[in-house]
Amino acid sequence: MLRVKTDEGAGKRMKLLGKLVDDQTRCVHYNGRLDVIAIKFSCCDTYYPCYECHRETADHEAVLWPASRFGEKAVLCGVCRSELTVNEYFSCGYVCPYCRANFNPKCAAHAHLYFETDIRGGTASGA
Ligand SMILES: [Zn+2]
Ligand SMILES: [Zn+2]
Ligand SMILES: [Zn+2]
Repeated sequence: MLRVKTDEGAGKRMKLLGKLVDDQTRCVHYNGRLDVIAIKFSCCDTYYPCYECHRETADHEAVLWPASRFGEKAVLCGVCRSELTVNEYFSCGYVCPYCRANFNPKCAAHAHLYFETDIRGGTASGA
């Protein structure tokens, strides 16, 4: 079982699934020192450590988080378990605004796999 902080957010339990390998949301696909965030998928309202986890674990196609909902919490810091809005995540400079944990800047290259965004890392075809 995952420990959840019991202050004001108590009672509202988030769903976190996928092929987790530790309690900071690292998974079998991404488990470097900085890989400590999970992302909520709007299709199932569930956090997964990465899109591979969703693809291998969920029974449906991933749906991108719509730009109109970037003000909603959709990123989980695996270190302090705070939830960030998409806008907070994009503007935090890869540092958790709550606990100062460093996030993996490389995740930004994958943002288009999670969020409806125009950010593309150069060549956006294939893979
Ligand atoms: Zn889903
Ligand atoms: Zn994964
Ligand atoms: Zn944090």
